[in-house]
Amino acid sequence: MITSTTGPQPADFADVRATNLAVVLRFVREHAPCSRADIAASTGLNKATVSSLVADLIDRRLVRETGLTENRVGRPATMLVLDGSPYAAIGVEINVDTVSAVAVDLAGERLLTWRRSFSAGDSVNQGVAAVGAVIRRVVGRMAKEERQVLGLAVAVPGLVDVQGTVRIAPNLGWRDADLGGDLAKALRDPGFPIQVDNDANFAALAEQRFGAHAGASDLVYLTGEIGVGAGVILDGRLRKGGRGFSGEIGHVQLDPEGPRCHCGRRGCLEAMAGIAAVLRKDVSPAETQVEIEEIVRLARTGDAGTLATLGSVGRDLGKGVSLLANLLNPEVVILGGYYVPLAPWLLPAVHDELAGRVVAEEAGGCQVVASTLGHDAAALGGAARVLDSVDSGRLPGGLSRIP
Ligand SMILES: [Zn+2]
Repeated sequence: MITSTTGPQPADFADVRATNLAVVLRFVREHAPCSRADIAASTGLNKATVSSLVADLIDRRLVRETGLTENRVGRPATMLVLDGSPYAAIGVEINVDTVSAVAVDLAGERLLTWRRSFSAGDSVNQGVAAVGAVIRRVVGRMAKEERQVLGLAVAVPGLVDVQGTVRIAPNLGWRDADLGGDLAKALRDPGFPIQVDNDANFAALAEQRFGAHAGASDLVYLTGEIGVGAGVILDGRLRKGGRGFSGEIGHVQLDPEGPRCHCGRRGCLEAMAGIAAVLRKDVSPAETQVEIEEIVRLARTGDAGTLATLGSVGRDLGKGVSLLANLLNPEVVILGGYYVPLAPWLLPAVHDELAGRVVAEEAGGCQVVASTLGHDAAALGGAARVLDSVDSGRLPGGLSRIP
């Protein structure tokens, strides 16, 4: 939304101001170093408004000046860049046996990357206490560095509704857990917002902001963990569905006669093309990494049985990706988790399936690639979600000046 100092003033002036602050902040994020004149020219905001908005952002230490540079018409202009060094956005990913935490500053620079072993315990309370202890240490570290925490976003492998309640996280044994509320209590009302969402959704946000296909407006991230889920970004926005439960492609049935899935149904994509199908057995989370490394080693030596398994899993995965391509026409489908080390052997079969199954020519332009963000993509995506909140107007600190 754009406002000017002439003409009728909108009734909700504070909202317009917050929106315009966010417009300027996003412009600086995308175009820094840039001048006030650049901002005015590109956003349509008038120069006096831009000056006032920039002063506000500087007050809040979200933007800073960085010397003079010749602008396009040869006059020196003071250039602006993101500041944000006094701030931290924290993302946390809860997995079956680990908790990962990532903190970034406002510019997205990594401040901290932790992975700690974790046990969900016998109850949600025990699990929350364990996660809360890790988060308290991260928050403590940020405080020591004199950074204000902008927000915390926690990724969970399971169904999370739009209110942030964990409806069911089968691998953690959690059901109907108000994780955000419980964590707020465990952190003694920390004064920053806490968001909770599904791991695939956050990983998709990480790819959109930090990945090799950053900025793609139509992107799907497929988790390759014990479960297979999709985080879907369409028209530039994360799409979660009416109650927040979209993306459960892992439980699309590929074969009614197929193997039994963890969900109790038969022949689900997850049962046919998840990590258990690659390993041909259920192994403990702690053993999975070692087992996958062994599969990679065997594949490299050309072991016929291993290559046949990976080919078969790749074809089933390709059926699932073709479904996404026909339904959503994404620019890119990004394979995450344990699919990443296996991608050299999975992708040829995935591409064959796409070629045969997608109605649009050249699979509708859909690329399929391995993630470059590593195993903490969902934690990084939590931090990205916090930055998204700031970029869309939930600004920290400072006092609004009325021009
Ligand atoms: Zn299933």
